[in-house]
Amino acid sequence: MQGSSYQPPSFDPGWVWLAGAGPGDPGLLTLHALHGLEHADIVVYDALVGKGILEFAGKQAVLEYAGKRGGRPSSAQRDISRRLVELARDGKRVLRLKGGDPLVFGRGAEEALALVEAKVPFRFIPGITAGTGALAYAGIPLTHRDTNSVVSFITGHGSSGGVPGNVDWDAVSRGSPALVIYMPLRQLGAIAEKLIEAGRPASEPVAVIGRATTENQQVLETTLAACVADIERTGLEPPAIVVVGEIVRLRAGLDWVGAMSGKTLSADPQDIGREAG
Ligand code: SAH
Repeated sequence: MQGSSYQPPSFDPGWVWLAGAGPGDPGLLTLHALHGLEHADIVVYDALVGKGILEFAGKQAVLEYAGKRGGRPSSAQRDISRRLVELARDGKRVLRLKGGDPLVFGRGAEEALALVEAKVPFRFIPGITAGTGALAYAGIPLTHRDTNSVVSFITGHGSSGGVPGNVDWDAVSRGSPALVIYMPLRQLGAIAEKLIEAGRPASEPVAVIGRATTENQQVLETTLAACVADIERTGLEPPAIVVVGEIVRLRAGLDWVGAMSGKTLSADPQDIGREAG
């Protein structure tokens, strides 16, 4: 290897690093996150962090699971923040590791604000969010000059469990040709209906990407009208992310993962959508 001028930041006792682990494939970790794993005294990790990633933790590191499955989300969240403060005050180097990017639908800001309140020093280490990583591994670009100049990241799951009430679906539908919907599965039928009501064609292409970037990745190409039935039919497993828009058609040319198992890619412009709407 040629000499690198990369200098990892010093991970000092009493600090919390709030880091993203990426969507699954360990190769998508950043060097900073890897350094954090190697030097942490304790790694407090989420359900979405892949096992292959925790194997990078140093021998001294205690691995502590802090998922929220089953518990009441908000009180569990307070417990996690409290735990981070306690560990830091105990003089530990704390790596708080989350799936994707900690600051994209990841409550990273909430945890960091709890640290600020407790005067615990912290660093953010961004990760590859599912909204970019999953699309890249499905062969779907977030933007293409022929299809969209805007892309929106949306949560499909409101804080009360229903369709998020604070999303203006009409505005999103009119203003954003490409939509990337996190936590989509439970409310997808209602969301698709809202988008169609707001004027998106029922035949608009949709991709559902499950367990992206892992060896169990599944990609389902469907439409707004058919997506719910198709997901049921194929039994696609979470976590999954949904992409709506003409960008999905570019998969015909860009599905490099499929190409590795024999799919023929087509760069034919006919397969590529025109500006939606
Ligand atoms: N902070 C995370 C998102 C947490 S919300 C990030 O930046 O990626 C959880 C949602 O992320 C899931 O419901 C799913 O929509 C998406 N997600 C995370 N990992 C994924 C994966 N490997 N494949 C598909 N979707 C994923």
